[in-house]
Amino acid sequence: MTHITLNNGIEMPLVGLGTYQLSSEDAQASTTYALDNGYELIDTANVYVNERAVGRGMRASSKAREEIFLETKLWPSFFERATAVDETLERLGTDYIDLMILHQPAGDIRTGYRHLEEAYKAGKVRAIGISNFPIEELRRLLGESEIKPSLIQVECHPYFPQTELKALLKEHNIALQAWYPLGGRGNASIMSEPVIAEIAKTHGKSPAQVILRWHVQLGHSIVPGSKTPSHIAENLDLFDFELTNEEMAQINGLDKGEPIFQRTPEVEHFFATFAPDVDSEK
Ligand code: NAD
Repeated sequence: MTHITLNNGIEMPLVGLGTYQLSSEDAQASTTYALDNGYELIDTANVYVNERAVGRGMRASSKAREEIFLETKLWPSFFERATAVDETLERLGTDYIDLMILHQPAGDIRTGYRHLEEAYKAGKVRAIGISNFPIEELRRLLGESEIKPSLIQVECHPYFPQTELKALLKEHNIALQAWYPLGGRGNASIMSEPVIAEIAKTHGKSPAQVILRWHVQLGHSIVPGSKTPSHIAENLDLFDFELTNEEMAQINGLDKGEPIFQRTPEVEHFFATFAPDVDSEK
């Protein structure tokens, strides 16, 4: 399975390129490289300050706009701005976004989500989603929104497989997309787990590929981040092998029951107040 169908009927590739912490130069080159080498999905965000570069990278690639699934995320300081979606489109240099996500459950969530609903109805975005919403906040949104989110992007990997959230997502047919699918930047510990190394050896694949294949077999969409061409290529090369039930169970056994990224009150305050300087990107 290389694609999934979202709850509003649109098709989405399971595997994409993440562009968090990529400079404009790296985001542009990596986007073009990924699209020229089989990728169809690119994930960016207002706050990454590389949307112009991702747009340039898309246009420089061999793929037509309609062959690309483009995701971006609206940052909380833009939730109340009625022109925020149009400004995002302008930066990306496109007239539609395939999936637009509220990046954090901070600030005026209701207004931000309403702006996404309006953009959806106007055909500016093909699907809407959320990110980092805790279960209670997601329940509240489901109770009061007109259009259900199609997807939630959350931290998810073998150390924290989001078991509780997934039960609610199943009820509402909401897709899960994993950030930190490999365990995140500067944190190679999942990739060095002996059980992962052993399974990788059995299949002649890398530890990263085993972890990403675990996600895919669970139906998670994944957006591993990289600017290294060999890693970008490797991270899509997941569809010629299959983990056995026993191997899946061994990887499930790595669950530590808590995320790597801890949301402290200081972090929450930062999310609600930080204003990214999107105009600084050339
Ligand atoms: P990740 O788990 O994808 O790990 C990336 C790290 O693994 C990098 O250091 C990279 O160099 C390395 N890597 C990538 N492929 C590899 C391979 N094949 N072999 C060995 N090492 C490899 O973490 P990430 O990039 O932080 O997250 C993925 C994406 O998720 C981001 O780029 C971004 O698009 C998204 N994200 C979203 C949020 C959110 O709040 N919604 C937060 C963080 C990240």
